[in-house]
Amino acid sequence: MTDPNAPAATTDAATGSGTPGPGSRSVLVTGGSRGIGLAVARKLAEAGHRVTVTYRNGEPPAGLAGVRCDVTDAASVDAAFTEVEQRQGPVEVLVANAGITADTLLLRMDEETFTSVIDTNLTGPFRVAKRAASGMLRKRWGRLIFISSVSGMTGSAGQANYAAAKAGLLGFARSITRELATRNITANVVAPGFVDTDMTKALTDAQRDRILGQIPAGRYAHPDEIAAAVTFLASDDASYVNGAWLPVDGGLSMGH
Ligand code: NDP
Repeated sequence: MTDPNAPAATTDAATGSGTPGPGSRSVLVTGGSRGIGLAVARKLAEAGHRVTVTYRNGEPPAGLAGVRCDVTDAASVDAAFTEVEQRQGPVEVLVANAGITADTLLLRMDEETFTSVIDTNLTGPFRVAKRAASGMLRKRWGRLIFISSVSGMTGSAGQANYAAAKAGLLGFARSITRELATRNITANVVAPGFVDTDMTKALTDAQRDRILGQIPAGRYAHPDEIAAAVTFLASDDASYVNGAWLPVDGGLSMGH
């Protein structure tokens, strides 16, 4: 059985040629151990890319290369990138997906609850994007994809910390676009609505029913539906999509 953590993953899954195909990119997905990140990583690997996911505990997901990384720790981020660079080359496609929630109403929200979510969901993407950008600049090609949320556009009661971080990703991505777009580096934001993952399992049945009533599609997304949007943004076909906010939310945020 092939060890996905072996150095120099040179077999192109798409062509089976033994060397990376012309379209094979070095990809890093943060928070790829489960949920949306795992679906993104699997889809990009299926497309023939060399993919590593970050994980924090236990083992990496079956069939994917993994690297331990906590996005709240700059030294951990740097070490993870160094490992990925040695294994599959400088990161050409970065999917900044790792995220947490710590929901409570504003008047009950202490500063630690606010800053911890900002640290993971906004400063984390800053840490990984900055680390990735230098290699992309050298290569004069790159894709920076940030997983935001519908909450960043609409706001969400009980999620002032989370929505602030997710909205911040838009200003962050658009600023990067203005800095790096002439070097064939794009920075875009994907904004999922409600997706069936561990994160939404915490909702009560009453909350779930109320939310479903607001979604024109009448259902939650499958993680693969978010992964499909990310796969497009990672592709050469998306070369002229810069600084975009792409909702993948079954129509939930229409009008915002
Ligand atoms: P999950 O809770 O299922 O997974 C979160 C992932 O993030 C895990 O892999 C987790 O790693 C990782 N992670 C959390 N904190 C850190 C950290 N400090 N360093 C590194 N990795 C970390 O979430 P989803 O898959 O549902 O969400 C993925 C992204 O999509 C998040 O950014 C979320 O905000 C966003 N999103 C999700 C929606 C949904 O409905 N599910 C809707 C809109 C946006 P570990 O396994 O080690 O804990």
